[in-house]
Amino acid sequence: MLIGKPTPQGYAVITNRATGRIEKEADTYTCSHCQRIIHVPSGKKIEEVGDICRGCMAVICRRCSDIRAGRIPDVASSGSGPVCVTFMRKIEAEEDKEARRRDLLRSMGI
Ligand SMILES: [Zn+2]
Ligand SMILES: [Zn+2]
Repeated sequence: MLIGKPTPQGYAVITNRATGRIEKEADTYTCSHCQRIIHVPSGKKIEEVGDICRGCMAVICRRCSDIRAGRIPDVASSGSGPVCVTFMRKIEAEEDKEARRRDLLRSMGI
């Protein structure tokens, strides 16, 4: 598998409404874990505003990077230590829970 440099998914230009001048230009990435949009101002590296998850090899935001590194606790999951929980996996986990709940109700005859 070839792992290249992640490519920006978008480009955000923030203009000052009053002057019409461009205030900020930034590449945008979507955090693979929480789906938040990450702005990488021109001249900055992804590593400065976020991180690249070694689990899914995708760009993640600073907060998810901290959660992954165990620097801050993840309130959404009970997992501890380095974790790679992508948004899709969270949805899958929810669906799994729902399916198990349905099975349980069915087994109880409800
Ligand atoms: Zn994130
Ligand atoms: Zn990941």
